[in-house]
Amino acid sequence: MTTAPPRTAALDLETLRADFPILGSRIGDSALVYLDSGATSQKPQAVIDAEVSFLTTANSAVHRGAHTLAAEATELYEDARATVAAFLGARPEQLVWTSGATAGLNLVAYAIGNATAGRGGDEARRFALAPGDELVVTETEHHANLIPWQELAFRTGAVLRHIPVRDDGTLDLDTAASIIGERTRIVAFPHVSNVLGIVNPVAELVALAHAAGALAVMDACQSAPHLPLDLPALDVDLAVFSGHKMLGPYGIGGLYGRSDVLEALPPFLTGGSMITTVTLDEASYLPPPQRFEAGTQPVSQAIGLAAAVRYLEAVGMPAVHAHEQVLERRLRDGLRSMPGIRLLGDAAGVERVALSAFDVEGVHAHDVGQFLDARGIAVRVGHHCAQPLHRRFGLTASVRASAALYTTEAEVDVFLDVLSGTRAYFG
Ligand code: PLP
Repeated sequence: MTTAPPRTAALDLETLRADFPILGSRIGDSALVYLDSGATSQKPQAVIDAEVSFLTTANSAVHRGAHTLAAEATELYEDARATVAAFLGARPEQLVWTSGATAGLNLVAYAIGNATAGRGGDEARRFALAPGDELVVTETEHHANLIPWQELAFRTGAVLRHIPVRDDGTLDLDTAASIIGERTRIVAFPHVSNVLGIVNPVAELVALAHAAGALAVMDACQSAPHLPLDLPALDVDLAVFSGHKMLGPYGIGGLYGRSDVLEALPPFLTGGSMITTVTLDEASYLPPPQRFEAGTQPVSQAIGLAAAVRYLEAVGMPAVHAHEQVLERRLRDGLRSMPGIRLLGDAAGVERVALSAFDVEGVHAHDVGQFLDARGIAVRVGHHCAQPLHRRFGLTASVRASAALYTTEAEVDVFLDVLSGTRAYFG
């Protein structure tokens, strides 16, 4: 099994990249330059091996069965939970497995809807919404952190409001302070925008939410792979993340919750594995996290995600962050100085991850994507599941380049060099 490189201040990229089999690929005549890690990251051999090893030596249903394999599978699965929770600064019971961030956010929105309908008893009443209560999101939201709240508002009579984004990509906190008030019940925001790459001011947003007695719900999809993260220290009430964006498998992610919040929240999905007693008329439920994990769970994926987290920890998140900051500056400086490029959210003096979306004057984003792809460079084009944000900037689509720990400065240079020929090519 491939092991992660030792913890070092500067990453040994040659050794590290050898752990990711796909990075040696060729696209036509060109070496692959993968700048689409914001959509999904590549996976190290250790993650692939962890899933294969589980499936070949320990595969069995967890939390049931008295046989040896079932016990082994359950132990590996719960160890995986402990590993991933610790990576986020949390305790195992504070981490609910979901199929991804989208599923985590829908879980929360539907559970609150159930509390509003009277489910969950006295404890859950604190989440119940009344018509006219307000849910606050930001204008930068990925659709996954927007549509579940739209639907919740529709079902409950709550009102959806939003924190606007300024021209430079930062959130308008003055407006946030004026709209978050006594009717606010939820403030949902991304830790890092998947279009702008800007790290949002979590402390300020959480303080505004908590001063209003609202829940702070954070989408950590674009921060968990790139920054050292301590969710309890950030004081968010709930947070979601996505395994496939942080070197892990598809079909696994998580919902972190403050213990008192998870303990009081009624379930969303119901069925097997989340109950204590069932009669033909009613059921009582297990405590979290199992209360939120109905049905057969993504066991090999959870074990693969734990391997991904162990890999990131062995490299060291401070080292990952430091390397990606170098890439971020190189990418942004290169784009900023290129004629005909309009960067989305080019605020100065803000913390960022190595992800930039931009418009190329006179060339459609899809044409840019195809031009780059023909030279081996993979970027994302389109609205990146953030249509309101693109509309705010007068666009329907943009090009997004996003890096990860395995990206090299040379790759950023190749991308910038090829991109600089785009406008001349399309003439
Ligand atoms: N939120 C953000 C900021 C994202 O970038 C993504 C992925 O595109 C999602 C949510 C959805 O994540 P998942 O694929 O785990 O459902």
